[in-house]
Amino acid sequence: MESVRLPVVNQSGYYEIRLESIGGLGANLCGKMMGELGTKYMGLNSASFSSYGSEKTGTPVKAFIRYCEASKDIRVHSPVTTPHLLGIFHDALIQDHGIFSGCNSDSIVVMNTENNLEDPCAAANNIPSVKCVFTVPAQKIAIETHSRINVVMLGAMAKASGFIPIESVNKICEETLGRKYPQTLSNNLEGIRRGYNEVKRVELTLTGRTEISSEKETEAWGYQTAPIGGVNPRFGSSVISDLSASRQGYFPFFLKERCINCGLCDSACPDMVFQFQKGEYRGKEMMVNTGLDYYHCKGCLRCVSVCPVQALVKGVESEHPDKQWFLPNQDLIRVPDYYEAAGPDGYVTSESYLTEKRIEGGEI
Ligand code: SF4
Ligand code: SF4
Repeated sequence: MESVRLPVVNQSGYYEIRLESIGGLGANLCGKMMGELGTKYMGLNSASFSSYGSEKTGTPVKAFIRYCEASKDIRVHSPVTTPHLLGIFHDALIQDHGIFSGCNSDSIVVMNTENNLEDPCAAANNIPSVKCVFTVPAQKIAIETHSRINVVMLGAMAKASGFIPIESVNKICEETLGRKYPQTLSNNLEGIRRGYNEVKRVELTLTGRTEISSEKETEAWGYQTAPIGGVNPRFGSSVISDLSASRQGYFPFFLKERCINCGLCDSACPDMVFQFQKGEYRGKEMMVNTGLDYYHCKGCLRCVSVCPVQALVKGVESEHPDKQWFLPNQDLIRVPDYYEAAGPDGYVTSESYLTEKRIEGGEI
């Protein structure tokens, strides 16, 4: 097999890729596929691995891929700190400037977003001055093609990289996803095709953007430089983390007029989204569902499944940018970046969930 020529390598001879994502968007699998296609279809040597916390949807996930010439061994097994290609699986992640860590003037950034980053008011000021930025509406394409965000991003990153052939991407998709989920193969191939064709390079103004420091490559992590215990310093927690980045285009749409305040959604929801407060329903005093704190909602749609009267339905999020019943958690106060307990109950024994009467009888 003829080897693909790498456009650039670092001092150690590697082309390095880092994927920044949130559990549930498929970055782990995408990283594995990128690693495998390097070895199987591009005549390169490659390695890949991911870093994630619990299996919980919504926690930070990073995937790392290294390519080098087939004749060279890969002796580095630490995370990629200075990526040549950075894939960002959700635009909410760019609020955390740390995701651009190590990017330099050789770096290419590919971002899943529907926002126009060329708009001077856009969040683009968070993006450092890298070699170039590409955007692709991966979530929208995934919904339209019934594929997943990860395959659309795979197609987009292949195009943006300038050296990963789409034929190789299709082959690895057929071999991995096609074998496991043959019924969805055509959807996934279409997702790849559209990601490849619809990714576009954006021209960003430099005003306000962070200049790249002239620092040399950061030292690779080893036993002397790795964080203690391999702890992921960007912890995930359903109380302080913004889980909205986990939603894959859908969210629970609340039709308050149908709600009978049965509380099943609150019991099913793993992330304290529902805001029950003392109120009145059909002339009776009881705990009433007053809204959802969508900041915590990861879009699993369990609540939609359990609601007995379809007061919660599956909605396409982009069609509802202003959520009518978006109510910040009433037991906690969110001060810019975190929550504080607002009363004696706090989030652990949320009053809306654990009042004695509800445990005994379910209804006051
Ligand atoms: S979709 Fe429903 S159950 Fe899932 S996190 Fe959001 S509110 Fe909770
Ligand atoms: S499950 Fe449905 S009816 Fe019951 S409280 Fe939740 S939204 Fe209302």
